[in-house]
Amino acid sequence: MKQFDLKGRVAIVTGGNGGIGLGMADGLAACGADVVLVGRNAAKAETALASLKHHGVRAAFIAADITHAQACRDLVADTLSRFGRLDILINNAGTSVRKMPQDYTEAEWHHVLDTNLTSAFLCSQAAYPAMKQAGSGKMINIGSMMSIFGAPYATPYAASKGGIVQMTRALATAWAKDNIQVNAVLPGWIDTELTRNARREVQGLHERIEARTPAGRWGVPADMAGVAVFLASAASDFVTGAAIPVDGGFSITT
Ligand code: NDP
Repeated sequence: MKQFDLKGRVAIVTGGNGGIGLGMADGLAACGADVVLVGRNAAKAETALASLKHHGVRAAFIAADITHAQACRDLVADTLSRFGRLDILINNAGTSVRKMPQDYTEAEWHHVLDTNLTSAFLCSQAAYPAMKQAGSGKMINIGSMMSIFGAPYATPYAASKGGIVQMTRALATAWAKDNIQVNAVLPGWIDTELTRNARREVQGLHERIEARTPAGRWGVPADMAGVAVFLASAASDFVTGAAIPVDGGFSITT
């Protein structure tokens, strides 16, 4: 399928050293893209890089805390100097602090917003000049079911993920003329480190999700590979500003 061919393309995946980010990076690498995984945990990244080896593409880990603008600019500069180009940016890094709204500290609020939303903006801003100059680009922002729904334990998380969708639409309108498509993916409930913590902290969550999801199961990171390839490839050249749920039907049931 030529339209999905990513050979010669270079992708940055933030939070690509595990979970959903690695699931998406694996999909891109399987279709021929070189991938740069970004995170803070180098040990996790080593395992992630080893898991991509069989695809025969170039893969690297760049350690960065992307809540800082300079780190995002350095990340893009480093990618360009090592790989020569940047075609795809997946803004996937994320975190959550689960509490009732009245119990958050100001620092916790900023931590979640900075990690989930501000970092996506800063990385997009940093990647834009190279994509504009190249005449094309693909940006993929990771939202959540909390982009649509609320939950009592997720006020800053839901605010950040709602923001991801609106930021996606704003960037998509701004950069369409540069042939840069900006879309969001809204994963359902996926089995990762993040949700393993959630299941420990929120009683009955595992069973509630399983019962409500029409597909009858939690998702796995590999479920995110296909949509990443679609949104990173020529197959989606006329798709921009969209927010695509990948959730086993979770968002269409009551
Ligand atoms: P993980 O905890 O496995 O992954 C989060 C990733 O973000 C880690 O790789 C982590 O890397 C990276 N990260 C966090 N903070 C920073 C930072 N400051 N700088 C650089 N990297 C950072 O969780 P998931 O895979 O589940 O989550 C990935 C994305 O998907 C998140 O945006 C999450 O909100 C979203 N999502 C997840 C769902 C799920 O069910 N799992 C559902 C909907 C959305 P490191 O530890 O090395 O810093």
